[in-house]
Amino acid sequence: MTDCLFCKIVSGDVPAKIVRESAGTVAFRDINPQAPTHVLVIPREHHPTVGELAAADPELLAELLGEARQVAEDEGVAEGGYRIVFNTGPQAGQTVFHVHAHVLGGRGLNWPPG
Ligand code: 5GP
Repeated sequence: MTDCLFCKIVSGDVPAKIVRESAGTVAFRDINPQAPTHVLVIPREHHPTVGELAAADPELLAELLGEARQVAEDEGVAEGGYRIVFNTGPQAGQTVFHVHAHVLGGRGLNWPPG
């Protein structure tokens, strides 16, 4: 999609601090980090939400989750604990409608989330 911010990060038209890449995904640091580790993992293909990705391509969703797990390992937060979050829809705080997993760690994370 030409007007999608995260598609432009995939294509390289918008710069990002990329930490991992796989055949189907790209992982990069969030521009406004909410924790010492805050990485976004996205599919290269455009899917608006995690629900739509799950319906369209469950193998790609599995790849994305595997990459999120590997980001947590690489960042050194896997042992202490980390969170994978998919904000889905406006009421849940989704602002970019290209599905992304937030990988958050490196500090205590409260529950329930706000
Ligand atoms: P959402 O609110 O949709 O769940 O998450 C969108 C995330 O994208 C936010 O955490 C926001 O800080 C991040 N973000 C927005 N614009 C950019 C950008 O241009 N570059 C990067 N790296 N992150 C962005």
